[in-house]
Amino acid sequence: MDLSPVELGTVLWEVQQYDTCILEVRKRIEGLPAKHRLTELAAELSEARQARTDRERELEEIGHRQHKLDGELDLLTSKVKVEEQKLFSGTIMNPKELQAIQAEIFSLRKKRDEMETEDLELMEETDRLAAEAAELKAKVETTESSEALAKSVYEKELEELELEIAGLEGERDARKLKLDEETIAEYEKLLAGKAGLAVVKIQKGASCGGCHIQFSATQIDQYEHGEGVWRCQYCRRMLVK
Ligand SMILES: [Zn+2]
Repeated sequence: MDLSPVELGTVLWEVQQYDTCILEVRKRIEGLPAKHRLTELAAELSEARQARTDRERELEEIGHRQHKLDGELDLLTSKVKVEEQKLFSGTIMNPKELQAIQAEIFSLRKKRDEMETEDLELMEETDRLAAEAAELKAKVETTESSEALAKSVYEKELEELELEIAGLEGERDARKLKLDEETIAEYEKLLAGKAGLAVVKIQKGASCGGCHIQFSATQIDQYEHGEGVWRCQYCRRMLVK
């Protein structure tokens, strides 16, 4: 396709305008509030899930401890019973021996009281942890619903913006068809390397619309009397009038 220098400048400028718009839409996608909300919710959810798992594991451990303690308590109770039977059987007459049995019963009961206190403490701890676990379970569920809602909002907004981008890309590509491969390659290289700005206007006939550096008198004269596309000698961007 043979374009006149003026036409080439116009096409390049238009392609740049579409790419600028596309870049803006992409920035809008990045800045969507629903996207940030989703990130926040994901963090909250992961924290709540972890806390819930921790509580449940603590509950399980405490359950094991209590089970073990209950077994030990049963054992102590039967030991006390055995000693009491000995004491009241009437078969032991030796006062020293009787005293020893009484002392043993006393010590076993003391131990049993301590273990019962511990058992009670474990029960209270179990109640506390179970309440916390239930609270965390509810928090996980609430956060999951919020996440689902935010996700649907985000996906809807994203879909609309992507549709907008597709439309802009269609318009841009239709214009790109008029350019030769070499020009397109050069344009795309600049676009990638110059923060999305490859083609700029010469401002007031005297400075670059990209890097804003003032041109020399010779250049100003050249641009004033010429037509087409030039390159900024400072930032290398394509210059159009
Ligand atoms: Zn420049």
